[in-house]
Amino acid sequence: MEKTNNGLRVILFPLPIQGCINPMLQLAKILHSRGFSITVIHTSFNAPKASCHPLFTFLKIEDGLSEIETRTRDVTLRLTILNRRCESPFRDCLTKLLRSSDSKTGEEKQRICCLIDDSQWIFTQALAKSLNLPRLALIATSVSFFRGHFVLPQLRRQRCLPVQDSEQVKEFLPHRKKDIYRLLAEKTEILDDYLNRIYETAKASSGLIFGSSCEELDQDSLTQARQEFQVPIFAIGPSHTRFTGSSSSLLTPDETCIPWLDRQEDKSVIYASFGSLVTIRESELLEIAWGLINSDRPFLWVVRVGSVNGTKWIEEIPEEVMEMLTEKGKIVKWAPQLDVLKHRAIGGYLTHNGWNSTVESICEGVPMICLPFYWDQMLNARFVSEVWMVGLHLENRIERNEIENAVRRLLLETEGEAIRERMELLKEKVGGSIKPNGSAYRSLEHLVDHISSF
Ligand code: UDP
Repeated sequence: MEKTNNGLRVILFPLPIQGCINPMLQLAKILHSRGFSITVIHTSFNAPKASCHPLFTFLKIEDGLSEIETRTRDVTLRLTILNRRCESPFRDCLTKLLRSSDSKTGEEKQRICCLIDDSQWIFTQALAKSLNLPRLALIATSVSFFRGHFVLPQLRRQRCLPVQDSEQVKEFLPHRKKDIYRLLAEKTEILDDYLNRIYETAKASSGLIFGSSCEELDQDSLTQARQEFQVPIFAIGPSHTRFTGSSSSLLTPDETCIPWLDRQEDKSVIYASFGSLVTIRESELLEIAWGLINSDRPFLWVVRVGSVNGTKWIEEIPEEVMEMLTEKGKIVKWAPQLDVLKHRAIGGYLTHNGWNSTVESICEGVPMICLPFYWDQMLNARFVSEVWMVGLHLENRIERNEIENAVRRLLLETEGEAIRERMELLKEKVGGSIKPNGSAYRSLEHLVDHISSF
């Protein structure tokens, strides 16, 4: 691709969560292909694998997280701690970079034109302003969730939502009341303050980038977000489809699942995975195991080490159940998810509906069985099951019969065929967005122009 931005360097600062690192490094690849040089500043916790990206410069800052803090399952707590601890080392690192770029001359001279960091870093906007550096925020959720989640403090104050359980909550569509209760049950006032800061810093930024969204997925929310935030907004589409190759996975994927999939029939396998953060109870692990066994379909199941509360991995599954599991399917600790979803053998995805996973599934035309646990997953699951109608919703029933039933409906019944047809149409629409003149293609061109103008 044409390189036009030699001499300009962009500084990136991802949040150390797999689902936020992926879109940030995908953006890095895009910008690099457009001639920008890339420096990634990152925390020592969940540091990206620099060796997989030899064209970028990586700089580590000490985040000061203790061993216990790195293991906490409370993601918001960890993020608020990280925001406090990283401010000073990040400031030092960025100031040094700016000074050293100012002191260079001739061919070596490269101007740092902007900072792009995750919207959930709340100290970077004020810092960038004080250094006269434009800052753009990358958002790893859907536009609908990003816009909507700022209403949570208000909903918490109202305490009781004036609708029936099954009705949608108009302040945060298409959530249902029970989704909102699950969202609010998780958090305390720390979250409200944190959300207000994210909102203020997003409004003060030089632009918002939605790394995995596009008009085709989120048109109304994009229109509303443009009015509300009054800053340039870019929805650059499913970025992971623009570049294949080097992965930004923090864990090592078990590649043996690909030859295993090669031995299965077309669209016969259920892929089950709940992303990088969800943890489940041992009883839930067993319900999922039985649901998969009883569905009598082959399955590929990702169980992360440490994702089952109180156990190391799957050692608590009784031996006779393990035998049935290995007869019908394959369990891995981490999968090469993009390759798995692309595989002709995959017929459905039992998912937690993290935004990356949801969009990856759409891009490969794989219908979903939604089992959301928290945060934006509940809204994504409503979009999948009720707006786009490309999946079934388990409604939080982690029960063997429910899982078995959903797998059969999706893979064996005419209902599943209709879902698959709608998914094919959605896949075409979303895939088309990054093609020349598609909405995401045009948005990316605007983003490149915007960054070049700084
Ligand atoms: N992922 C993967 N292998 C796995 C499970 C997940 O590579 O076995 C990747 C997946 O492709 C996605 C990311 O991890 O890009 C998870 O992000 P998502 O937003 O879906 O969920 P989160 O982990 O943030 O809950």
